[in-house]
Amino acid sequence: MMKIFLIVLACIILAWLVYSFFRRRTKLPATRLCFLCGGESGYGYSEVVKDVKRVRPICRKCLISQLENDYSNFSGRAVVIQPVSGPPCYAFHSIRDWSKSFKNSKIDDDVRSYLLRMDTTCQDCGQRANFLWIGSSGLTKYNFGNVLRKGFAETLLPMNPPPISLCRRCCVRRIAKKLEEEGITYLEVHAPKGAEDGFVMPMAQ
Ligand SMILES: [Zn+2]
Ligand SMILES: [Zn+2]
Repeated sequence: MMKIFLIVLACIILAWLVYSFFRRRTKLPATRLCFLCGGESGYGYSEVVKDVKRVRPICRKCLISQLENDYSNFSGRAVVIQPVSGPPCYAFHSIRDWSKSFKNSKIDDDVRSYLLRMDTTCQDCGQRANFLWIGSSGLTKYNFGNVLRKGFAETLLPMNPPPISLCRRCCVRRIAKKLEEEGITYLEVHAPKGAEDGFVMPMAQ
């Protein structure tokens, strides 16, 4: 009797082990699927819900349509530094929050002064421009901190074509083109939100 009991118990434990092994294996990749379409994700999309920031996996196609939404709902203006591979994030920061947190950084001064004198006509389509596009040649995962500290006027502009003004649609189109053509991915993409002026740049959070 005792023997049968032990055999049954062993079978139950074995069955449970097999079950949990397969469950874990099928569960792991599921956490990296796009939260919108269920496809394979290559990016993280960061959103703030009730003051809590969360990063959700997203595929490139859904990311681009989210960005189209976010950039057209944003009512401020922003300097947008062209995507480049290397830094893990592509994030928006408002000038106000940035200058409060990083007193020794000069990028907010550059953003303020360049937005103040930017051309308000989109160079690609002639509509009203809210974004100032800046090239990212020379920007790497090692020196983005330097750009944040010293500003882009002294570090990036000498190595890049002059900044150009873009409307919301043309700005997202250029971001999408860069991501597609160069296969650039980001662990976290945080788009402009609200009405405060700011900047978008490849960096670490
Ligand atoms: Zn998707
Ligand atoms: Zn345009």
